[in-house]
Amino acid sequence: MRTIQTSQIVDAVAAMCIKGNTELPADVRARLEQAMAEETAPSAKEVLRQLLENADLAMNTKLPLCQDCGLAVFFVEVGDDVRIEGGNLRDAINDGVRKGYGEGFLRKSACDPLTRANTGDGTPAIIHFDFVPGDKLKLVYMAKGGGSENMSRVTMLAPAQGWEGIKQFVINRVAEAGPNPCPPTVIGIGIGGTFDHAAKIAKKSLMRRLDDTHPDPDIAAKEKELEEAINRLGIGPMGLGGKTTTLSVKMTVEPCHLASLPLAVNVQCHSQRHEEVIL
Ligand code: SF4
Repeated sequence: MRTIQTSQIVDAVAAMCIKGNTELPADVRARLEQAMAEETAPSAKEVLRQLLENADLAMNTKLPLCQDCGLAVFFVEVGDDVRIEGGNLRDAINDGVRKGYGEGFLRKSACDPLTRANTGDGTPAIIHFDFVPGDKLKLVYMAKGGGSENMSRVTMLAPAQGWEGIKQFVINRVAEAGPNPCPPTVIGIGIGGTFDHAAKIAKKSLMRRLDDTHPDPDIAAKEKELEEAINRLGIGPMGLGGKTTTLSVKMTVEPCHLASLPLAVNVQCHSQRHEEVIL
């Protein structure tokens, strides 16, 4: 049994929130550079150049990549042989968010959905826990912007609609979203589970590196098929037209009820801010 102090978790989470909001991950940067090289429309090229310049400015000044520093979302893997000492794991993560968003001068975007009163410190974080073998604690953080989240949808298709129905729904969703989610986007898709689980695995799909390839060749091919179809829409960077409407499509497929075909489309913007730490 390995002991991890909550103080370590608080500091690690605070550092992740600050780094995540000021340093564009290398995989996202590389994909934006590739897109800029491939674009031929001057406006599309210029938007992508500005996004890369913005990333440089954020890195050098330690100012946030975007004014919307997002809702703090975590996927946490807790090893069976890990013992947390000094308090509760959920509280430690929220304390880390409070510290990171405070010390990093990150915009606090969490509010009461009815009164709209700001919670004042960026909490509560949205935390998904998983329990795995081993003696490590893995924390994956995403700053999830509201503009792109608002363009996301969950639906329950009829099983007979199959892959064609899934494809149509995803493409229509991206087309209807247009410039609203600050394209070029990353599209996280969850297929299967239940109504709620589909949304969770769609979000988890967004935690993958943009340059990875799904281990299942059939799903990898479907991700590519969707990416190409979305990019043929011509919405382009910030909706000004071009070849790059999405940087990547990431899909998670899990078993579902035989009467159902749950589908979730979680839209993420070009500011694909994610960080990972293993304690
Ligand atoms: S959608 Fe993304 S890039 Fe656009 S304002 Fe929100 S966080 Fe910023």
